[in-house]
Amino acid sequence: MSEEETYITPIHVRDYLFCPTILYNKYVKRIIEPETAMMEKGKKEYERDKKGLKRRESILGDKRIKAEKIIFEAPLKSRKYGVMGVADIIYWKDNKLHIVEIKYSKAKKPFPDHIYQTATYAIMAEETLKQKVYKIILYYKYSKLWYERRFTGQLKNYTIKIIEKTRKILKGEIIPEVKWKRKCGSCWYRRICYPQI
Ligand code: SF4
Repeated sequence: MSEEETYITPIHVRDYLFCPTILYNKYVKRIIEPETAMMEKGKKEYERDKKGLKRRESILGDKRIKAEKIIFEAPLKSRKYGVMGVADIIYWKDNKLHIVEIKYSKAKKPFPDHIYQTATYAIMAEETLKQKVYKIILYYKYSKLWYERRFTGQLKNYTIKIIEKTRKILKGEIIPEVKWKRKCGSCWYRRICYPQI
């Protein structure tokens, strides 16, 4: 196995936070949820945005952010924590490093799984670019919600713990316990977790 094959991604971290059992079902048991119309729409929009640099630049323009430097689709890697992935937008303002993750949903408030997914990009950015990250930002495109958060030591340390837990599940060292929560009601994997319902 090559070194890169042992790396996990911020998407794994996001799935772990949404529900550890989803992570286990998807990547260990390889049971994949069929794509919904909403997922397909988000994916198409993402691909369109990716091709259209101007569309991505306009996101920062709409927020009146005068960045000194911007990188779109920035490949990042942390050897230390074994994580790699591609950040949507990285920009420098007043010499400070900002990491932006774009979401294609109508969220009214940021979701914790998205916050720690973006914090994982920040951890990789610090190692790749050898500079401290000042803020992580989530932009929910359909609701135009722009959420900023300082990338503190506390947020970083907690994210590192989550990365470690995520890796243990992916390696099959831990099988997460299935626990009923409100989101189970609308989860596609309910048929696997609770076949009797
Ligand atoms: S049904 Fe509930 S426990 Fe099972 S994967 Fe979905 S959210 Fe997780």
